[in-house]
Amino acid sequence: MQRYSLRINGQACAPQGGAWFESQNPYTGETWAEIPRGDARDVDAAVQAAHAALTTGPWAELTATQRGALLRTLGDLIARDAAKLAATEVRDNGKLFAEMSAQLNYLPQWFYYYGGLADKVQGSTLPLDKKGYFAFTRNEPVGVVAAITPWNSPLLLLAWKIAPALAAGCTVVVKPSEFTSASTLELAELFEEAGFPPGVFNVVTGFGQEVGTPLVAHPLVSKISFTGSDATGRLINEQAARLLKHTAMELGGKSPNIVFADADLDQAVFGAISGIFAATGQTCIAGSRLLVQDSIHDAFVEKLLAVARSARMGDPMHPETQVGPITTEPQYRKVLDYIAIARSEGATAVLGGAKGEAPGGGKGWFVQPTIFTGVRNDMRIAQEEVFGPVLSVIRFQDEADALRIANGVRFGLAAAVWTGDIARALRMSERLQAGTVWINTYRAVSFMAPFGGYKDSGLGRENGSDAIREYLQTKTVWINSGAVTGNPFVLR
Ligand code: NAD
Repeated sequence: MQRYSLRINGQACAPQGGAWFESQNPYTGETWAEIPRGDARDVDAAVQAAHAALTTGPWAELTATQRGALLRTLGDLIARDAAKLAATEVRDNGKLFAEMSAQLNYLPQWFYYYGGLADKVQGSTLPLDKKGYFAFTRNEPVGVVAAITPWNSPLLLLAWKIAPALAAGCTVVVKPSEFTSASTLELAELFEEAGFPPGVFNVVTGFGQEVGTPLVAHPLVSKISFTGSDATGRLINEQAARLLKHTAMELGGKSPNIVFADADLDQAVFGAISGIFAATGQTCIAGSRLLVQDSIHDAFVEKLLAVARSARMGDPMHPETQVGPITTEPQYRKVLDYIAIARSEGATAVLGGAKGEAPGGGKGWFVQPTIFTGVRNDMRIAQEEVFGPVLSVIRFQDEADALRIANGVRFGLAAAVWTGDIARALRMSERLQAGTVWINTYRAVSFMAPFGGYKDSGLGRENGSDAIREYLQTKTVWINSGAVTGNPFVLR
């Protein structure tokens, strides 16, 4: 059993309440680590350390170029430790080692990209309408950032926040998900090795109410960057609005994957499968609604089943495993509940539809890859985020029908269109209400490509060069270059 520590002001430390909680391996169902159960006292210590680093420490004295160099060194250390960090994530969240390994090997790019960007954000001189003044703008860090992350891709989603935040000169307190805290605590150990001053990056683990709530409310926190469910996002946004804090929200999705009859159907099958079964469906961008044109519906479902049936469940560390367990026990129950709901609504399970056996002796939380046909867009299974390996297939007639169904949900994170007609692809990309639209592909993300939600899927954008501005605030400086300051009590 491994016992972890909090990371505050560059030090590994015990939680002030002296309590730890257990973290389970989703494949075996067994406890493998003890995670510190932080509370408001630990949050206060971490935020004070972050605020001191922001305002008085050596971090505040660094040039943007020097900050960039630290970020690039951190990227190198993550590259060095990628296999170890990936193995920790697999043990803690059950995703496939192959997937986490690819993710961790890609992760340094965020630190290289934003490290390079750190000294390229420029202010401007203003062409003023008044004579006798000169004015320019400066971009300054927004302050201490609270980064609150979910359990499905702990380090990737954290990198999307901290790489631009640190490049901007902010300091950070992270609250990872209580289900998958270990990898964030291991990442924290690399910051001092990379040369970051103490207090720039802090981690307080624990539960939403005990750590998240006091973190959001702390008066020295200026910005909350949250990724998680829309229910928690709303709660945090309400609290932050009362306290006039900046927020960025990356929330849930119910993304349509739309297949037209003129598409390359073999490619579309692979896109549909990876859209829903990668990461066992536990991704915000899961293509959980498969919209198939009526004329090819039955043939396409047959092709889909032929590939989906071959999916091998098993030990996520094993290279031949294709579908791993559900990460948490509550989520496992939720996925099974949604399968029951879909049946009661009249949808037909043409694949799976039950809990799975864990081959190789794992006692963890497996759900069979599941495909429902006969789904209508007004069913709960078509409207609500399941966050599991459950696909809803919905028929459509034509472009207008596809758009009506695709946009007919409260979410708008991503969408994909499979078609051989470029004009149709462009029309659809204009009309789909989603932060990302893929044409003839699915799941592509990059540190360079802005990512975020329309509608209830969120506020703000991560990734891409503009994301650094989410962590900056603009100051305008006026200089008198010849104007006369007259007596204000003398009327002119
Ligand atoms: P969640 O909302 O339950 O928890 C997210 C984080 O918020 C956790 O760290 C949790 O402890 C914390 N939290 C809970 N209550 C809090 C409170 N009152 N105050 C402050 N913090 C609190 O989400 P989850 O179940 O961990 O993650 C799954 C969800 O995340 C899905 O809805 C998924 O779509 C979404 N997600 C979105 C993206 C995206 O980029 N848009 C990416 C991944 C996951």
